[in-house]
Parts: sequence; structure tokens; C-alpha cells
Amino acid sequence: MPTIFTHAAPALAMGVGLGKTVLSRRLFYFAVVCAVLPDLDVVGFRLGVSYGDILGHRGVSHSLALALGMGLFAACISPLLRCRAVAAFLVASFAVVSHIVLDAMTSGGLGVAAFWPLDDTRYFLPWRPIRVSPFDPKAFLGARGLAVLKSELLWVWLPCAAGAFALWLARKAKATSRR
Ligand SMILES: [Zn+2]
Repeated sequence: MPTIFTHAAPALAMGVGLGKTVLSRRLFYFAVVCAVLPDLDVVGFRLGVSYGDILGHRGVSHSLALALGMGLFAACISPLLRCRAVAAFLVASFAVVSHIVLDAMTSGGLGVAAFWPLDDTRYFLPWRPIRVSPFDPKAFLGARGLAVLKSELLWVWLPCAAGAFALWLARKAKATSRR
């Protein structure tokens, strides 16, 4: 996995790029939670669930079915999130999908069970430039940690910042043309 902070990057980019009028503050926080949520499955390691098990890391929790489920859940609680149901569905689903895609672009571990329950196979994307993050935080203190952070900056944070800036520019241009 990329680090937990980096998984939040696409949701942060959406928040900055779309602004408060499209993305309510509550929906924004919910999106950040959705973007990091799949990695709660690491709790399974402590409970004796093996990595390769479908309930293990990058299994069920990293499926498009979960993305759909979180989108539907967000749509159901959209009044609480102070946004339209469609916006809640799209933003929450996108946040989970971003997590799945980023994990599928990492250089190690097992792939993601993106198509569960139709298919238990673990998949990676053909292009995997993101260095996989170690599970042990101590492993970050050193060259490996630096290499992980460098690859995340280059392949996640930079594109997210560019995307947020492009959305922000488009939003400003639209607001100017209305005046
Ligand atoms: Zn993950």
C-alpha cells in the first residue's frame, strides 16, 4: 500500500479542486475516511487472517463492490452530509476507487481483489511505479522509507496537486464568466 496519508491525497485534491459549494465540508471529511478505509483490513493480521485470504489485506475491502457500497451508503446519509445524494454517491465511490487504483499501482505485496465477489483474483495494473510501503513503521527510518516517500510524492501527490489546481482554475474561470 502507499502510506495511509498518501491514500487521502485524491480526496484532498477533490476538496481543494471542487470547493465548498460542490463538496460540503462533511462530504469532504467523509471522502477522506472512504479513501483510507480499505486499509482497516490490516486488523485482520492481528486476528490471524492471512494476507492471501479473501478477507485479508487487499481482499474484500479493496473491491469495487465496497466502493459501490460506500457510495450507496453515502447517498443514503446525504442529508447528514449536507449534499445531494448523487454528489455523495460519486464522491464516496471515487474515494474508495482511488484507494484500489493506487494499491494496484504499487511495486509489492499482493494485488487487489477489485472484482470480488465475481472474481477472487488479486490484480495489479500493468504500470506499477509506486514503491510499496512497509507495514512496520520502523522500516520507514532509512533509505527504504525515503524511497517510498519519494515515489509517492512523484506519482501521487504531484498528479493530485496538478488535478486540484486544474479543477480550481476551471472553477474560477466559470465563476468569472458568470459575472
Ligand atoms: Zn490498501
